[in-house]
Amino acid sequence: MPVSQNPISIQGVSLESISRKFGTPVYVYDGEKIISQIETLKQAFSEVPLKIKYATKALTNVNILKLVKRAGAEVDAVSIEEIKICMEAGFSAAEIMYTPSGVNFREVQEAVELGVMVNLDSISLMEDFGAAYGNSIPACIRINPHIMAGGNEKISVGHVQSKFGISIEQLTDILVIVKKFDLKIVGLHIHTGSDILDAEIFLKGGNVLFEAATNFPDLRFLDFGGGFKVTYKEGDPSTDVHEVGRIVSEAFQQFCTKYGRKLELWIEPGKFLVSESGYLIVESNVVKNTPQLTFVGVDSGLNHLIRPMMYDAFHDVYNLSNIDGDQETYNVVGYICETDTLAKNRKIGKVKKGDFLVFKNAGAYGFSMASNYNSRLRPAEVLVWEGKAHLIRKREEFHDLLRHQVILDI
Ligand SMILES: *Cc1c(COP(=O)(O)O)cnc(C)c1O
Repeated sequence: MPVSQNPISIQGVSLESISRKFGTPVYVYDGEKIISQIETLKQAFSEVPLKIKYATKALTNVNILKLVKRAGAEVDAVSIEEIKICMEAGFSAAEIMYTPSGVNFREVQEAVELGVMVNLDSISLMEDFGAAYGNSIPACIRINPHIMAGGNEKISVGHVQSKFGISIEQLTDILVIVKKFDLKIVGLHIHTGSDILDAEIFLKGGNVLFEAATNFPDLRFLDFGGGFKVTYKEGDPSTDVHEVGRIVSEAFQQFCTKYGRKLELWIEPGKFLVSESGYLIVESNVVKNTPQLTFVGVDSGLNHLIRPMMYDAFHDVYNLSNIDGDQETYNVVGYICETDTLAKNRKIGKVKKGDFLVFKNAGAYGFSMASNYNSRLRPAEVLVWEGKAHLIRKREEFHDLLRHQVILDI
């Protein structure tokens, strides 16, 4: 009988007891894992003045944000709503960076009024910003360094055909606008993708930043973005953040010497902080044998975990109710009326109706991308912290689905 590496408990709290107490489907997060990931990054970049700006879009529950703050990290928000959630969690405006993509200028103004720094993502936004604020409000510029990076095309955002940032080839245009409005540019930013395995890619991006930076005398920081890859299955490589820290810090220190001033080095991890902390627990509704395959149908689907269908993401799955039993091969599928394969061709402990199955790496882009498709309710969220399971979001109820519908008398 194989002995499983998969956890049956978090901080001594059994996942089975959480499933019974809070029901399924349920997202469960290990608070300690998030803290330890932050500590790992601090160690990896201990040679430089580091700021960790958690990319909140990965998982925005206020309690998670509070833990991130408690561990000494700050945040990167991509919408005005994320900014407000971060403030709700106790972050001050000065601790929030706003990195929008193609938003209405009214939203940028709202962020500025709240006191949040804006990461300028287009020439057009630079002009609007300059016209409105001149040099009175410091800002950052998001550069597109034209680097192909990341696990696949959908999560590659710094290449020449990407909508994000301002092309490094337009540096001259950038400088014209900076001069025209006397903009106070205090940071330069890149973010090239997600699931970036190779440490050299971060250095490559860094070199683009270093070169551009010599044109900006007021810099306080360079922001290298996020995208560190985590482990999805046993033996799967993850970004060696210590190697990234070592080579990027060294190059950064050399750059600072040339620049003539010590700057801060910012990074924006999303997945790295929360992916492995999260589990999605579901219940098996049906085991269906077909001539070719055996399906396990569960009480969840792409409405709760869209990554397998959207990004071909791999989420390890195991049968919590039969963790070390004899294994069989299954396709684990959702209950959505659309093909929603959550896990394909997986060997897990033999499943019967009513068993609890657990998906790993569900912390990042799991709940935050969940929807009500098929008029299904979104799951509860539970945080395990200091050895106790705490409900941090109630399971939705039927009336939530109708809350914003305006029902006409017809
Ligand atoms: C999404 C995003 C990140 C985080 O990416 P991960 O792959 O989750 O680390 C960082 N910075 C920006 C601007 C982002 O949009």
